[in-house]
Amino acid sequence: MIHNAVVLRSRPGKNGHPVPENFRVEEIMKSPELKEGQVLVRTLFLSVDPYMRCRMNDDTGADYLLPWRLEECVDGGGVGVVEASKNQALSVGTSVTSFNWPWQTYDVMDGSLLQKVDPEMVDGHLSYVLGAVGMPGLTAVLGVREKGHVTPGSHQTMVISGAAGACGSIAGQIGRLDGCERVVGICGSDQKCQALVTELGFTAGINYKKGDISSALKEHCPTGIDIYFDNVGGPISDAVISQMNPGGHVILCGQISQYNKDVPYPPPLSEDTQKALCHKNITRERFVVLNYMEKHEEGLVQLSCWVKTGQIKVLETVVKGIENMGEAFCSMMTGGNIGKQVVKISD
Ligand code: NDP
Repeated sequence: MIHNAVVLRSRPGKNGHPVPENFRVEEIMKSPELKEGQVLVRTLFLSVDPYMRCRMNDDTGADYLLPWRLEECVDGGGVGVVEASKNQALSVGTSVTSFNWPWQTYDVMDGSLLQKVDPEMVDGHLSYVLGAVGMPGLTAVLGVREKGHVTPGSHQTMVISGAAGACGSIAGQIGRLDGCERVVGICGSDQKCQALVTELGFTAGINYKKGDISSALKEHCPTGIDIYFDNVGGPISDAVISQMNPGGHVILCGQISQYNKDVPYPPPLSEDTQKALCHKNITRERFVVLNYMEKHEEGLVQLSCWVKTGQIKVLETVVKGIENMGEAFCSMMTGGNIGKQVVKISD
């Protein structure tokens, strides 16, 4: 049986931008014969995520992330369907997912490494398993609830950077649902700003590539900023933190503006920002979704409910074809996506 696989051809280097040519598609031959406990799966959707940038380095800088190996098939979040089975728990036709799905059109996998997906949970949209009702959605809900200190009725303003992406677009909607008075998103285009306001119910969108962020923040956050869901770091975060109210909370979710640089995580802050945090007694605790495994099931049920009732709107950017995995990853890293970037591998 011949199928396609994506291998890592080269590393961008710690100080370098990833390019699609870092990846290569290969045809591989595999016996479809199954051993006891195994299943043959057909891949439906694959995810591309910012953490994968660390996996492109030979040292990821995080003990919970293994580097991808050169000339080997890469892996990440995926969802697919069982096509043949020698596993009693997984019959043919079952939808399954894994965080370590190989970037392949088909694979033979050990059934014990897969989780079953109930299509009902995702309102029939299996790609949501990789986004709104999956790891990015959990990051949003647990980030807001564990570190955000949203208090209904207290007229809080929440700002989200990377607001039109997978985590940011959900985090802002949760801020609104949980009772923030104003939810302001920062992102990289006017089209994204418009989607935040008209489709997702944000109070305002700020395009950081146009005009002065500080004056736009003053205009849209007239009573200061109480909660900051930080996906990007760097100068955008400096501008936000400088306008935060005393006792505010930064949810340190990610720092994507620094991922192509050889700096530790979290990257060092400027002296002014460090002082602002200290003088105004603002919390800024690192948040890692994998540290809350015991809350994932409940979080997914909540996200599923919000999505099915329309309280949360889901935006996705879908690219087709395994040959476009590298392109899709690099596009997501430079803002080509609105909502969750996924790649559709088969129907
Ligand atoms: P997104 O869907 O948000 O995609 C990445 C986005 O980052 C792009 O669309 C782009 O949007 C923006 N971006 C890229 N470069 C820059 C830059 N230099 N300055 C500002 N914005 C930039 O990805 P995710 O939602 O999957 O991830 C968002 C963040 O959350 C990342 O930092 C990621 O590492 C983090 N994360 C953290 C987790 C945790 O457990 N802590 C779990 C999952 C994700 P634009 O057009 O607006 O520039």
